[in-house]
Order: sequence, then C-alpha cells, then structure tokens
Amino acid sequence: MPTNINIIRSVFIERVKYETRSVKTILFKDRVASKAKPGQFLMVWIPGVEELPMSLMVADDEDCAAITIRRQGVGSTALFGKQIGEMLGIRGPYGNNFKIAPDARTVLLVGGGTGLVPLMRLAAKLNEMRICCTLIIGASSKREVFFENTADAILSHTKHKIIVSTENGNYGIRGNATEAMTQILKEETFDSVYTCGPELMMKKVLDIASAYSIPIQ
Ligand SMILES: Cc1cc2nc3c(=O)[nH]c(=O)nc-3n(C[C@H](O)[C@H](O)[C@H](O)COP(=O)(O)OP(=O)(O)OC[C@H]3O[C@@H](n4cnc5c(N)ncnc54)[C@H](O)[C@@H]3O)c2cc1C
Repeated sequence: MPTNINIIRSVFIERVKYETRSVKTILFKDRVASKAKPGQFLMVWIPGVEELPMSLMVADDEDCAAITIRRQGVGSTALFGKQIGEMLGIRGPYGNNFKIAPDARTVLLVGGGTGLVPLMRLAAKLNEMRICCTLIIGASSKREVFFENTADAILSHTKHKIIVSTENGNYGIRGNATEAMTQILKEETFDSVYTCGPELMMKKVLDIASAYSIPIQ
C-alpha cells in the first residue's frame, strides 16, 4: 500500500554528523523520504517541542534520509540536540522540486547557510546527469563554511568547481556569494542558475541572473 505522506511516521536517528559548531546533519531510515526530489522538504516533529520544515539532504545509504539543522531558536535547538537512537516524527516529502532543462550543460548553484541543503540534492542529480556544475558557497567566516568537501564528493563524476566566499575574507575569496557570482559571470556562461539561502541573497542572485538573461530557480 502506498505511504500516505500526510500521516506522521516515527523514525530513529541512526547517525549524526557535525558540519560546524551550530550545524548538524541527522540521518535516519525512511524509504519515502530517501526518494524525495531535489528541493523537497519534510515536516519534522520534535516530540514535546514543535514541528519544523526541514529540507532533505543527501544520504548515501539505501533507504536512508538526512536533514541538516542550524541551531537557532527553540525548535531547531531541540532538534540539534537529538542524538543517535532518539525518535522524531516526519511527514512528507512536500514542496516543489528544482527542474533541470533537458539541454542543460553547465549550471551555477549559489547557496548560503542551510540553503545549501536542497542544493546538495540537486548537485547529486546534476552529478548523475553529468552536467557541469559550479557551486558558490557563501558564509560569514571560515568556521561557518560547511559542505565544501561533501559537495566535492557528491559532484565527483561530473566536471565541477566549488567556490567559497567568506564575508570577512578569512577563507576562500573575500566578499559575499553574490559578489563571487558577479565575478564568475564575467568569465563564464551558464545555462541555468539555482539558488537557495537568505532572502536578500536570493533576490540579488535573481537580479544578477536576470541581467545576464540566465534562467533561474
Ligand atoms: C521549506 C523550508 C525548508 C527549511 N529547511 C531548513 C533546513 O534544511 N535546515 C534548517 O536549519 N532550517 C530550515 N528551515 C528553517 C526551519 O524550518 C526553522 O524556521 C528554523 O530552524 C528556525 O526555527 P526555530 O523554531 O528554531 O526558531 P524560531 O523560534 O522560529 O526563531 C527564528 C529566528 O528568531 C531568532 N531567535 C529565536 N530564538 C532566539 C534566541 N533565543 N536568541 C536569539 N535569537 C533567537 C533567531 O534569529 C532565529 O533565526 C526551513 C524552512 C522552510 C520553510
């Protein structure tokens, strides 16, 4: 019988991975979530606390799903504190997914913070389709940078480049992700741009891509 994604499912945390001091990936078994499309999210119930939307991250193991949490307010801090063996409730996956044009050859991904999470699943799909990919990771400083090595591994079967920009300039190139985007567009062309992250960043990415007439999602 097909799973009704609107009914909450109990899952048990099987693995955790600290990405930074305040960002953590939690992995658990769930066949339905493991098949989610790039860009989709789960509703995650933290028992006794609240339910939060969380984008689905890449998980290597079969039937395994993952979410990556940044510790912020009450809900995300409770979720961040969860350990192996503890239970969560999940519903979904929900939401639209990124679309990849059949003739896309080279794409640009621009992400900041946990906006990088859905872009990782997109990167996995681009890797599968052997589409060349440039990823810009924006962060405030070196200690806030995450997924650089993960993205490199995810994109290992396709031509790719990862550019890290930090606002304080202590790692990668100095400046924010949109400055890095402006710079790279002076040298290279892309069939599509995909972005996810802080609203202000996404608005700037949209403006820049539009100025170059590049389709954006
Ligand atoms: C579709 C979708 C996908 C998402 N995917 C992810 C994801 O992959 N990973 C992820 O981490 N989040 C994701 N989010 C955001 C997530 O759902 C929560 O909104 C986020 O974790 C904050 O929830 P919270 O209850 O902890 O914070 P809230 O209590 O809602 O607080 C939000 C903001 O208030 C401020 N704040 C709250 N409490 C304090 C405090 N004690 N001190 C100082 N400031 C405070 C902070 O600035 C904080 O950012 C996603 C959201 C959506 C809509």
